[in-house]
Amino acid sequence: MAGFRRSAPTIDRPLTAELDRVNVVTLHAANPGPMTGSGNWTYLLPGPHPLLVDAGVGHAGHLDAVVAAAPGGPAVVVVTHAHADHVSGAPALRARAPAARFLKVPWPESDAAWDVPWEVLADGQELETADGPLQVVHTPGHAPDHIVLWHEASRTAFTGDLLVRGTTVVIPASRGGVLADYLRSLRRLAALGPRRALPAHGPVIDDPLAVIDGYLAHRREREQQVLDALSGGAATIPAIVARLYQGLHPALVAMAEESVLAHLVLLEGEARVARDGAAWRLAG
Ligand SMILES: [Zn+2]
Repeated sequence: MAGFRRSAPTIDRPLTAELDRVNVVTLHAANPGPMTGSGNWTYLLPGPHPLLVDAGVGHAGHLDAVVAAAPGGPAVVVVTHAHADHVSGAPALRARAPAARFLKVPWPESDAAWDVPWEVLADGQELETADGPLQVVHTPGHAPDHIVLWHEASRTAFTGDLLVRGTTVVIPASRGGVLADYLRSLRRLAALGPRRALPAHGPVIDDPLAVIDGYLAHRREREQQVLDALSGGAATIPAIVARLYQGLHPALVAMAEESVLAHLVLLEGEARVARDGAAWRLAG
C-alpha cells in the first residue's frame, strides 16, 4: 500500500506522486509532556521485515499500535538517539517482540541504561525496507549518537530531533550537545536535498531546506546577542540568559542556560570568547 498516514490528528498535506514512494505508518508514543510537547512520533515501515524508527517510552497504547501495524512486532527497531523519549520503550518492545533487533549509533553511557542487546549502526550503513534502502546519516549535535535515516527514492528524511517545525532544537551542552556539530549536521542534511522531513516531534516538514535556513539564521542572530551581552558586561551564563530571554518562565531557565553554554563553547572553539571558571569574556 502506498501512502502515508498519521494515527492521531495533526497537520498533514497531500503528497505528490514523486514523493509517494515510501509507505510509512505513523504511530504516536502517547507521551505528551513539558519536554516532549504533544509527544513523540515513531514511524513504522511495514513489509516482510518491518522497521520501526524510535522506540517510544513503552506506553501500552503505543506497543499495541506497533504490534497491530506489524503483527509479531517489528523485525528491526532503529533508535535515532538515546534521549529517553526515543529510547526508553526499547525494553518493553523487546518483551513484545523478542526476535526484534535493536540498532543505534553507540553512546555507551546512555545506552547501558536500557536492557537491550544493542547492535552498532555506523554512518553510511544501509537498512533494507520493503520500499528500498534507508541510509544511516550520523548527525551529532543535539546528542552525540543522533542519526537521520535517509530514503533516497522519495527524498524523505526521518529526522529525529534534528528539526522541529515552529521552534528551535535544544542543544544540551552539558549533556553531550555540541552546537558546532549540530550546525554541520544541518548542512549535511541540506546537502542531501530533502523534500520531506518526518520529525519525532510536531508536524511533517514539507520544506526542510527552508526550516534549516531559518535555523542557521536564528543561530547567527543568537550568537551576536551572546557576544553583545558579553561586551555589555554580562559575564556569567545566568546573567546572559537574563539579558537574552526576558520574562522567561522559571521552568525554562535551565534549557536557556544550556543553549547559551552551547553558543559559548562554539565561540570558545573559534577563540572569540574565553572563560575563567564560571566567568566568560570576549577574547583578545
Ligand atoms: Zn532528543
